[in-house]
Amino acid sequence: MTTRTRIAAGNWKMNGTAADLAEVEAIAATGARTSEVVTLLCLPATLIDRARGYGVSLGGQTLHAATSGAHTGDISGQMLVDAGATYVIVGHSERRTDHGESDADICAQAEAAWAAGLTAVICIGETEAQYRAGETLDVLRGQIEGSVPQGATPGNTVIAYEPVWAIGTGLTPEVPEIQSVHAEVRAALGAHVHGGETLSVLYGGSVKAANAVGIFALDDVDGGLVGGASLKAADFVPVIEALA
Ligand code: PGA
Repeated sequence: MTTRTRIAAGNWKMNGTAADLAEVEAIAATGARTSEVVTLLCLPATLIDRARGYGVSLGGQTLHAATSGAHTGDISGQMLVDAGATYVIVGHSERRTDHGESDADICAQAEAAWAAGLTAVICIGETEAQYRAGETLDVLRGQIEGSVPQGATPGNTVIAYEPVWAIGTGLTPEVPEIQSVHAEVRAALGAHVHGGETLSVLYGGSVKAANAVGIFALDDVDGGLVGGASLKAADFVPVIEALA
């Protein structure tokens, strides 16, 4: 049996300045003690280079599918690597919604991430309306087919299942529901790409110390993608420890 990589990923979103590097340092110190878990911080691009050297894995939050050129305000995979990133989030629901990114855009971004040598953290998740309509699995299968490129392997791709209605709301699905959706996501990945069932699948959406132990104990959950509770070491360290 292959052992899937367990990842405690923080998504700082549009938060953080140099004053917050002390939090990175404190989070990294815990990461170093829990070496069986990858501790990853997806920081604002302005902080990635400055966060080098603490020993935590670093990631961007998006990238452009092109390698360079006339794309004002965008960032390439090569630039993220140059700054010290080894991962990049693609297809976060806030990018899908705020920037109109489609599954095809996200698929192209994931391939651009691979070309730059980055591991793509591809996000999928249903909206509240889709959840209420019982469409969750159909939505997730469609997103997997549209946004996970052929060639995805555990070495280049991580999946993050984030119900949109759970992000930043304090709401989460019931724990058994998280397990059953993750099992279906894993099966859909296996049906879509060769070996897809071996990818690490993270849960995201209102993960915090109080619920992390129960969620991370689930068979098909390989870690978390954590927003609000990743900004402060006092909040994120217990989440990392829950995975270790
Ligand atoms: P949250 O965000 O933990 O604040 O709900 C998760 C995410 O959007 O990745």
